[in-house]
Amino acid sequence: MRYIDKLPDPKGEAAVLGTFVHEILEDLLNLDSAERSLATAKKIAGRVWEETAIDEDFISLCLAEDEVKAFKWRAWRLIEKYFAIEDPKKVQVVEAEQTLAVEIDGVPFYGIVDLTERVGSGLRVVDYKTGKTPRARYVDDKLSQVWLYAAALAETDNEVSEVRLMYLTSGPIDRVVDTNEVSKAVITHRKTWDALCEAIVKNDFPHHVGPLCNWCPYLENCPEGAIEVQRRFGPRS
Ligand code: SF4
Repeated sequence: MRYIDKLPDPKGEAAVLGTFVHEILEDLLNLDSAERSLATAKKIAGRVWEETAIDEDFISLCLAEDEVKAFKWRAWRLIEKYFAIEDPKKVQVVEAEQTLAVEIDGVPFYGIVDLTERVGSGLRVVDYKTGKTPRARYVDDKLSQVWLYAAALAETDNEVSEVRLMYLTSGPIDRVVDTNEVSKAVITHRKTWDALCEAIVKNDFPHHVGPLCNWCPYLENCPEGAIEVQRRFGPRS
C-alpha cells in the first residue's frame, strides 16, 4: 500500500521520536571524540529540535503543548541513558549513518547503518533502538537486521566481526559474527525478493494478517485486516 498504491504512511509518535534521537546521536558521533559530551548533545538536541518541530511527520502527530514537552523529555532520557551505557568519547567511529546500496548475492539491498565502529576484534556494526527490549524469543528475529548489514558491508569489502543492537532503554545485545546466521539472513532476503518479484508479475499482493493489524495505518483500506482485528480484539469503537 505504501510503495505500490502510494498511500500515505504516517510515521506515528514512536517512529518520530526514534528519528529525533537517531539524528542527535548521528551528529554527536560525527564530532571529534573529545567533543562528545552530554553538554554538546544538549546543544545538538536543541538544533535538531528546530528541524523536528517543523517536520510534517511531527506536525501530523498533533501533540498538545504538554505532550510536546513529554515527547522532548522522553527523547532526552534516551540520550541520557545512552551516555550511561557507553562513553561516546571512547567510540572509534568508522562511519555513522552510512547509506548502503549494494547487491547481496545478486539481490538489491538498501539500508542505513547507524554506526560502524572499530573494536578489538575488527569492525562492529551497530543499530540503535529506541523501543522496548524484545523478549528473549524475539531476539533472533531482531538480530536478522544486523546480520544482513554485516552481509551488505562485506559487499563493500568491510568484513564485520561483531554486531550490536543497542537498546537505549536497557543496553546492548551483542553477538560475534556467526556465518550461519548471516547466511540465514541472506537466504531470507533472497526469498523475500523472489516473493516480491512474483507478486509484481502477478499483480497479486496477498495479505498477511496478524496481531499487528490493529496498529496498521492501512487498516481502513484492508478488509482482511479489519476482519482479523475484529476477530482478535472485538468491534472497534
Ligand atoms: S491491516 Fe494487516 S493485513 Fe492489512 S495491510 Fe495492514 S498489516 Fe497487512
